[in-house]
Parts: sequence; structure tokens; C-alpha cells
Amino acid sequence: MQNKLNSLLKTHFGYDTFRVGQLPIIEHVLAKKDVLAIMPTGGGKSLCFQLPALALPGTAIVVSPLIALMKDQVDALQANGIAAAYYNSSQSPETQERIRAELQGGKLKLFYLAPESIGWFSEVFQEIDISLFAIDEAHCISSWGHDFRPAYTQLSSLKQRFPNIPIIALTATADRTTQDDILEQLAIPKAARHLSSFDRPNLYLEVRPAQDRIPQIIAFLRERSAESGIIYCLSRKNTVKIAERLNDSGFLARPYHAGMNAQDRVKTQEDFINDRVPIIVATIAFGMGIDKSNVRWVIHYNLPKNIEGYYQEIGRGGRDGLPAHALLFYSYADVAQLRKFIADGENATVEYAKLERMQQFSEALSCRRIALLGYFGEHRTEPCGACDMCDRPPDYFDATVLTQKICSAVVRLKEREPMGTVIDVLRGAKNAQVMDKGLQHIKTYGAVRDVSWLHLQQYMIQLLNLGVLEINFREGARIGLAPLAKEVLFQNRKVRLAVPLTKKAPVKTAVAKNVKPDGLFETLRVLRQRIATEQGVPAYVVFGDASLKDMVAKRPRNEQDFLAISGVGEAKLQKYAKPFLEAIGAHIGSETEKIPTHKQSYKLFAKGLTVAEIATERNLKETTIYSHLQKAHNEGMDVDLAQLIPPDFLKEVEVAQSALGEVEGVKPYFDYFKEAVPYWKIRMALYLLSEVS
Ligand code: ADP
Ligand code: ZN
Repeated sequence: MQNKLNSLLKTHFGYDTFRVGQLPIIEHVLAKKDVLAIMPTGGGKSLCFQLPALALPGTAIVVSPLIALMKDQVDALQANGIAAAYYNSSQSPETQERIRAELQGGKLKLFYLAPESIGWFSEVFQEIDISLFAIDEAHCISSWGHDFRPAYTQLSSLKQRFPNIPIIALTATADRTTQDDILEQLAIPKAARHLSSFDRPNLYLEVRPAQDRIPQIIAFLRERSAESGIIYCLSRKNTVKIAERLNDSGFLARPYHAGMNAQDRVKTQEDFINDRVPIIVATIAFGMGIDKSNVRWVIHYNLPKNIEGYYQEIGRGGRDGLPAHALLFYSYADVAQLRKFIADGENATVEYAKLERMQQFSEALSCRRIALLGYFGEHRTEPCGACDMCDRPPDYFDATVLTQKICSAVVRLKEREPMGTVIDVLRGAKNAQVMDKGLQHIKTYGAVRDVSWLHLQQYMIQLLNLGVLEINFREGARIGLAPLAKEVLFQNRKVRLAVPLTKKAPVKTAVAKNVKPDGLFETLRVLRQRIATEQGVPAYVVFGDASLKDMVAKRPRNEQDFLAISGVGEAKLQKYAKPFLEAIGAHIGSETEKIPTHKQSYKLFAKGLTVAEIATERNLKETTIYSHLQKAHNEGMDVDLAQLIPPDFLKEVEVAQSALGEVEGVKPYFDYFKEAVPYWKIRMALYLLSEVS
């Protein structure tokens, strides 16, 4: 079974291995079981229904909320030679008719539509052979989610109408409450939940105080010339203003907001996707439908209103798995502004609580990633090493006893009180809240009178972020215990908390190491762009950056090598092998002409390749490579030959020297060692000995 899946994966998508979490989900769907798949943005969700769609007979019906998103996925599928189509209101009646006929004729492996259109297809769905239902962005079905879409509620009758067809619901953002709700709404209460790790280790997380944002952004961008990125801000006016400021400073930036006409929006989005405009300054309206894999940084000019939104937005960075930087500017002014927005909305209680968690994350004094993942129910203990707090940690103290007291108060309050009350009780406050409920009688009342209210709040926020405490939004933001609390209370687990900062320490700019643009990469990028333009598809539909990087690293010479590149399957091999192999061949040719052969070997050696690897790479004998290295050494290049010749062997050659006396050439030594030692080794040893003497 797995063999078949692996071969489908390579043939159609060009990948050799499944990503973490994909295979179990796929196997579940193939077993006709319902699944809720939660994976971070860029984790590879689409494959979890696309591959079963190929493995099963019939057509997979994919419900997706956005036209742009459908179009991109269908483009990408078609580029891989897979029969896929989408249906929406923007298409001409002829196109709609044609697609409907394809669907009815069983010609499609995947059929995408918006939830609004489901009704139109009720009858068709009864007639055709359906392999599975995939509900993308499934959190839209829940009013607990952050993106409720009423049309999604139509999906609640799917299970009843098609009890034997598996439903796979996918989302990148759903806390526990939302997950429960999704299953309830889709009427698949028994669905298996697959929670892939939310971690995106390639995203660097940083939060800075929102002072002098524009100069900070300009300095940040100077380090990253020509890289693509998105700046999110709250107001339309700001998108225009910031884009202008950046353009004045010599960057190429374009604003994007919901007030622009559709045509301009589409154009801006396409220019960005196709690398014609590297920087977009957008309201959150931007990015939901785009699938650009080489976004290298995401800046939040303003505070996002919840962690789900924040995570989704930064998740647009580094989808190709290469490093990306997420920078958030935090200010109380934004918090106040957002609270005002929320007050006007419907779901105010939930939204206030979520904003508060966003605020807590921004104020975190320990590893941001632990806090972020903890929010999604993934409790880690090891600091990540890829965030500002890990890089510039504050001072810590042993807070085990303090934490025990806090946890015990939470228990005694039956996990039913909000943070403020817990703090009041711990500090022995005599206010009405406490007295009316008779909380002054519980055992931990007044247990930490010596800690100020604000500091205690700080510590509890840290404990939330560390996964010791939990907050229940659904019920009045009550504080409860998270899994780690048990270990603190009963297994004497140590807890270290950060000493609260009294004054904001100046923030150093984290400088990402700028990678020098690689000549071949640039060549391939331009080629990709040309092909994409010719074919009228986004550049990444031809190849993602990850594929180009793989070509640069592996330098394929023939079709077989080319097939080994990540992202190259049968369809792309047929379509693109020729132009890309030619470009790579030409590049290698021009490189080789310029550099003497021994220096080429030396360069690879200096990069850390072994002699055997260099020989394979250069299609030369190992002996030749050794002689190259010896020559390079002789010319003063930094080659550690001693590393290739063990000291013991040097001694043996020394012994041979005195035994053989004055002899010509290497042959006598070869004989002396009974033809068991290769020439190159003897030659190199003699060379080293002559050097010493
Ligand atoms: P999501 O929908 O979860 O945000 P996508 O399905 O768009 O993510 O996948 C993100 C990127 O990862 C895409 O470029 C996709 O082609 C790539 N990808 C998915 N699965 C694999 C895999 N097994 N190996 C390599 N790349 C993969
Ligand atoms: Zn960290």
C-alpha cells in the first residue's frame, strides 16, 4: 500500500517522501474514515486529499472558500498532469457547462467548488461516483473560529446524504473549542483528529515595541534586498502611506486593500506572486488566497486581533521550508484600537479573550514558540532557539514554589475564575468580588501577598505561555490547569520564570545572514519566470524555490538526475526537463571554463564534500581528486591533507623510505606495500614528508 502511495507521490507531485503527518491522514481517508486534519499553513494539507483522490476511483469534491485559492490549486494540479477543475460564479456559462459535463462524465479526479455552489450540485452528486469530500479551511464552519462563513453551514447535511463517503476537514487554525465545533457541525463526531505539529521551525519569531516603525522596517529591508515579503497593517490609509515611504526609500512596494477595485487587486496579487513586485503592504484582506512559496518575511505593522490570525499570516512566510522572518510590532495603542473594533462586533466576549492572548504572546518573556504552540494545545518545554526571547533571554528565577501556590489556588477555585480573581485571592484582596463569593476562606487566600498585582499577572501570563495554565474562552475566560501543572504540583517539576522587565531594554536588530545570490539560482529563476509568462501561470506552478534550490545543489545533467529533484514528477519531467537541463548545462560549462580543474575540486572540498562526493559530482576518478587537492595545497590553498592521511600511515611510509633508500618514483613503494595501498595515498604521504623535511 505504502509503495503504491509513494509511487503516486513521486509520479504526480515529484516528491520522494511524505511530510510529517501526511501519511496517517491519507491512510485514514483511504480506509473511508472521516478525518479532521489540522496542520500549520504550508504544512502540506492539500496533498492529504489530493493523493487519496488519485488513489481512489471516482471524483473528489473539494469545498474551498476562495476563488483565487481554487484557481491556484487547480493550476498546480493541471501542471502536474492531473484532471482537475473548479466551478464558480465568475466563469462564463459555456465554461460552467463544460465543467459540469466533465464532472458528470467522470472525467475529473478533483472538483473544486465554493460552499455557496453546493446546492447547485445536489442532484449531480447523487449521480456520480464520489471518492471523498474535502472541506478546506474547515474552521469557517464554526462561529468559534475566527473566520465564520455562513455558507459553510450548508455542509452539515453532507454526512447524512452521503454516509459512506469519507469527509476530510482541513484547517490550519483551530483551538480545541473550534475543533469540537467543526466535528459537531459536519456531523462527524467520531472523526479521527490528526493534529500535526503546529511548529514551523523555519519561521524566526520576533516582537518589537512599536516605536519608529518605518525606520525600523527600512533597516530591516536593507538587510534583505530583493526578497519577497508582506507588511500587514490595520488601515487602508496606512497601506498606501507605508508603501509610499518605502518607495521613496528605494524599495519596490505596492499597497493592497479591500477598497481597491477588483482589477487592481488581482494585478497586484499577480505581480507579487510572479516576483515582479517584492513587497506588498496590505490589510488582512491580502494573502488568504495566495500560495506563494518564497515569501521570506512577514511584518505586522499593527497587532493582529488574535493568535489564529497572526499565525496564519506569518504562516505565509517560508512555505518552501526555507528560513523566513516574522516581525511583529506591539503597542498598547493597537490593543485599544482593536478593543474598540471588537466592542462593535457580535462575538465580543470570545474576541476580547482572544485579543488578550495575543497581547500576552507579545509580552511573553520566555520562548515565543513555546507560547505560540501552547496556545494551540501543543505543549513544549524546550526553548526553540529561533526567536527573539531565545536569542536575548531576560533574567530568570526559580519560581517553582510560586507556581505551586498559583496552581493550587486555581484548583481551589475549581478552575472557574478569571485571572483577576485568582490574583486577588492569592494577594488576599478584600474587594467585593472576593468577599461576595466567600473566597477569603479558601486555603491559598493571601498566599503571595508579597508579590505586586502587576507582577503576579506577568507570572500568570508566563505560565499560560509555558503551558502550565490554560484559559477557557468559551466560559468567561476562566483559568484552568494545563497538562504541565500536574507535574509542578505532584512531581516537583521545576519552573523558571523571567524577572519582569521594569523598563523596556533597547532591542537589538536581529540580522539574518544575507545569502549571496547564487548565479545559477538567478538563471533558473529567470527561466522559470519566462516559462510561467508564456504559459500564463504563476511562477511557482512551474517550480517552487525549493525545487530550484535543489537543482542548484544537485546540478542534474540528464533526465534521470532531473527526476530526482524535489517537485519533479512525470508531468514536469516531460514539460520542463529540456529547458532546465540546458540552462544548468550552460551554466556549468561557463563556470568550468573559467576555473582550473584542481581549483574546482578544491572549492568543493572547502565546502565540506568528501573526496568520493567530489569525484561523483565532477565525474572524475578519486585519484584525480587527490592529486588536485595536493596541487591546491602546493599552491598555498588551505587544504588539510593530514586529515586524509592517517599519521600511522605516514610513519609506515617513513619506515619504507629508510628501507628503500634512494629510489625513483612511487612504484617501488607500491610494491613495498604489496600493491595494497593506492598510488595517490603513497604520493600524498611522500609529498607531506617532503614538506616537513
Ligand atoms: P497548506 O495547504 O497546508 O498550507 P500546501 O498544501 O499548499 O500547504 O503545501 C505547501 C507546500 O509544500 C507546497 O508547495 C507543496 O507542494 C509542498 N509539499 C506538500 N507535500 C510535500 C511533500 N511530501 N514533500 C515536499 N513538498 C511538499
Ligand atoms: Zn524561542
